[in-house]
Amino acid sequence: MSKWTRRALIALAFLVVVGGGAYYWLIVESHMPADAEFSLDMNAVRELADAMPGDKPENIQVEQVAGFAFPATAIVAGDGWAQKAMPVFSYRVVYPDGTSGIIDTAMDQKTAEAAGAPEFDQDAYDRMSAAMHKASFILITHEHMDHIGGLAAQPDVAALTPVVKITKEQQDHPERSAPVTFPEGVREGFTPVVYDRLTAIAPGIVLIKAPGHSPGSQMIYVRKADGTEILFLGDAVWQFRNIEVMRERARLVTQFMLKEDRMAVFGQIKALAALHEAEPGLKMMPGHDGGMMASLLEEGVLSKGFE
Ligand SMILES: [Zn+2]
Repeated sequence: MSKWTRRALIALAFLVVVGGGAYYWLIVESHMPADAEFSLDMNAVRELADAMPGDKPENIQVEQVAGFAFPATAIVAGDGWAQKAMPVFSYRVVYPDGTSGIIDTAMDQKTAEAAGAPEFDQDAYDRMSAAMHKASFILITHEHMDHIGGLAAQPDVAALTPVVKITKEQQDHPERSAPVTFPEGVREGFTPVVYDRLTAIAPGIVLIKAPGHSPGSQMIYVRKADGTEILFLGDAVWQFRNIEVMRERARLVTQFMLKEDRMAVFGQIKALAALHEAEPGLKMMPGHDGGMMASLLEEGVLSKGFE
């Protein structure tokens, strides 16, 4: 073997080791850290949900406004490169007296196209926009474009100011909503919800602060009049499989694209897995899980379409 062949082989071996290590670290590695933790006190949540006077919601409706498709490993690290659907939803909580509130506002067509989302349903978007204008409150799980975008895109968004209940953290991080922006002064004009760990926002509805996926991330607990409980997880996890196998998104996504607090999200996954084991009857709806959506529709926990 010539000196140059040997050098070339050493260089190649070096690339395989370093490149392989980097691939594993960025795309596959997702061990649950032993010290990851998140406190989720369901007794306190339930107490708050009951504390607000008034009837609890009798119905939760859903619209699928758009859909992404991501490689599986972006959703659950190590799951490979097959494309998986990532539907984008908006929810409408309806009270017996006909009043209602919105949870998450998906995004408009322009934003969906900019984000490369292959699916967009204009009729669903129009129904959501109409519902926003009849709502008593509009909540978002977090400040990313596919949750806040539909709100920001309303031509008269300033007129919705009295019912917009974004949190202080969501208001304070416009950079996390990119490429979505509000008209000059509108975001700053919202009166933010300021709370520490938990707060009730309406009868049966409690916000649970859960920074990690983004600074303004929260989970939203809803207890229906019939006693059904559902936890809207926002994008703490994109799909329920993250909780089943206790794995995060690939580090390439969390660290370099989303700039997540990965440790905080791991803590939430661990807490949600423990909660699911202790209380399998408590429903959980991850941010973008079409399979879980189908089950919850089938069980009648959610109902299809804003009316
Ligand atoms: Zn999302």
